[in-house]
Amino acid sequence: MKIDRIELREIRMELKNSFETSFGVTTERRMVLVSVYSEGLFGIGEVACGETPGYNHETTDTAWSILEDVIVPRVLGKSFEHPSDLEPVLHPIRGNHFTKAGLEMAVWDLAAKAANMPLWKYLGGVQTELPVGISVGIKKSPEALAEFVIEQEALGYKRIKLKIGPGRDVAFVTAARAALKPTTKLTSDANSAYTLADLEVLKALDGIGMQYMEQPLEYDDLVDHATLQKQIKTPICLDEPIHSVGDVRKAKELGSGSVINLKLGRVGGHLESQRIAKYCLENGIDLWAGGMLESGVGRAHNVAMQTQAGFTLASDTAPSSRYWSEDIIEPEIVMVNGITHPLEGIGLGVNLKNDLIHTFTARVATFK
Ligand SMILES: [Mg+2]
Repeated sequence: MKIDRIELREIRMELKNSFETSFGVTTERRMVLVSVYSEGLFGIGEVACGETPGYNHETTDTAWSILEDVIVPRVLGKSFEHPSDLEPVLHPIRGNHFTKAGLEMAVWDLAAKAANMPLWKYLGGVQTELPVGISVGIKKSPEALAEFVIEQEALGYKRIKLKIGPGRDVAFVTAARAALKPTTKLTSDANSAYTLADLEVLKALDGIGMQYMEQPLEYDDLVDHATLQKQIKTPICLDEPIHSVGDVRKAKELGSGSVINLKLGRVGGHLESQRIAKYCLENGIDLWAGGMLESGVGRAHNVAMQTQAGFTLASDTAPSSRYWSEDIIEPEIVMVNGITHPLEGIGLGVNLKNDLIHTFTARVATFK
């Protein structure tokens, strides 16, 4: 596959409902869609990092700049036998994993189309019944949260994850736990809002009865998480500090946690995700796919990834309708009784709603 054209397109999509985490409130998403063209075929990926450096160092604007100035010149006009051949080209660029993944995902879609296969099968996926969890933003009060989670439980979600932060933690999680059926899996995600000085709060959370506790401590930490895990029973799930299969191995050796939230972008794309899924399967580490409030393009890539053996827990691949009035893909991602299925079309398996995409476009650049 010779890459003979690359298009970068920034789209802006307003969320149906604002989403609050410990680092801020999101009302509008800005993503960069990356399209690669080769011999009459095209593939598409999405850079799903934040608009601000709140989740990690990357932003929509740094992604655009790194793509335009560094990545596109290295990829345009080059030929690749397989998407894994991109690794020697992208690996020397330090960090910027979400940005590199946008391009990498597009090449996987292209390669699956060239092989005339659905992407999920091309990736080696084997699972077709994919359990879906929901990520719930911070609400105004424990009562408002309890009311909201009851509605979500009724929709069939297989796991309910609560965003928490200091002062909006124990009472909120306790209220949600009391409101839900005892069999409904409940988890929390602090997005790094605590330190070991908050041990009392973390121990109180430990007593509520959660499936796991996601990323309570610093975004780049593995050591303190290992200290904490020795003092609480609830398994710790790591998100922000996991950038590679090497990080998963280090977390395992340190005892930092036994659950991994895998974000396709955070680890640089499908190739590293495959390695992580394989490592987790072989080492008894629970794994699920996280989300970044993606458009349907990123969401469809997440669903394809999640079909691999190794994904053992419900993933944040909620249906398009949870976030968007209208998604940019058809068919949209749907969920029935808490289950979604891989898309069976060739490649990513979706058609793009180009009129809608044009409406959402803030800037576009084409390189030939
Ligand atoms: Mg998280």
